Amino acid sequence: MSREPAGPSAGLPSAGLPFGGGDGGVPAVEVRGLHVDLGGTPILTGVDLTVAVGEWVTVIGPNGAGKSTLLRAVGGLLPAPGAITLFGTASTALRRRDRARVVATVAQSPVVPPGMSVLDYVLLGRTPYIPTLGRESTADLDAVHEVLGRLDLTGFHRRELATLSGGERQRVFLARALAQGATLLLLDEPTSALDIGHQQEVLELVDQLRREHGLTVLATMHDLSLAGEYADRMVMLAAGKVVAAGTPSEVLTEHLLATHYRASVRVVPGTHGPLVVPVRPRAHL
Ligand code: ADP
Ligand code: MG
Repeated sequence: MSREPAGPSAGLPSAGLPFGGGDGGVPAVEVRGLHVDLGGTPILTGVDLTVAVGEWVTVIGPNGAGKSTLLRAVGGLLPAPGAITLFGTASTALRRRDRARVVATVAQSPVVPPGMSVLDYVLLGRTPYIPTLGRESTADLDAVHEVLGRLDLTGFHRRELATLSGGERQRVFLARALAQGATLLLLDEPTSALDIGHQQEVLELVDQLRREHGLTVLATMHDLSLAGEYADRMVMLAAGKVVAAGTPSEVLTEHLLATHYRASVRVVPGTHGPLVVPVRPRAHL
């Protein structure tokens, strides 16, 4: 169920740098032998990961496996000297502003600045395009309004972020990342706060943007059935190591889920990928 990415189109802002092209062969993300220590504890120990341009890869794994740490390292929020290449350029060689035009992150629990309106928050995504000490341009505002429209948030632009529901706020976080115009989206549990309808709505939207604008998606998700329906490939992390990688059918197996999540599940075939159904470990008579 691998889907071919479409080329970038004129609608959304695009990175405008030589990183976003679908030039055959150079992956969007290349991670080799990534080690991350936090507070003196090894968290990631030799992680390899490749994401092709236009691909959707979802990292799964139990709580504490290191999924968020991996995304933070790929997004340049944690030092990872020599281990990460983005669109053929060593991550360490990217200056902050340039990196922001290449990769946009929706964190697992973004900090919500008190008193900030939706419009101002989404405008933060345009920071890499606004000169130091300068103001946003009409083009920046146009880009923000286009993204707000796309995410059904037009009526919300004056609302204070803190007053939105969890689902509305999640769409605003996504809007900020999209307004950034980066071609690589890092989504850390983008749907955890959402009801099942909004989960599908957000994932469908990301997939549509991916097809229409040639975006590359690296996500983490806890809902394994949903994860498998949208990912081209999945990577399972456990205790800071990759323990499985491949198509959703290769990774979402009863055996791997029992081994690494200590979960008792049935995996049944679905139209868009395997469906993972939790079952009680043993009958209580
Ligand atoms: P996941 O997203 O898979 O649930 P994380 O990447 O958030 O896992 O965390 C992986 C491990 O790293 C956890 O055991 C967590 O407690 C630990 N960790 C995260 N941040 C820090 C930190 N700043 N200092 C020490 N340990 C940390
Ligand atoms: Mg996490």
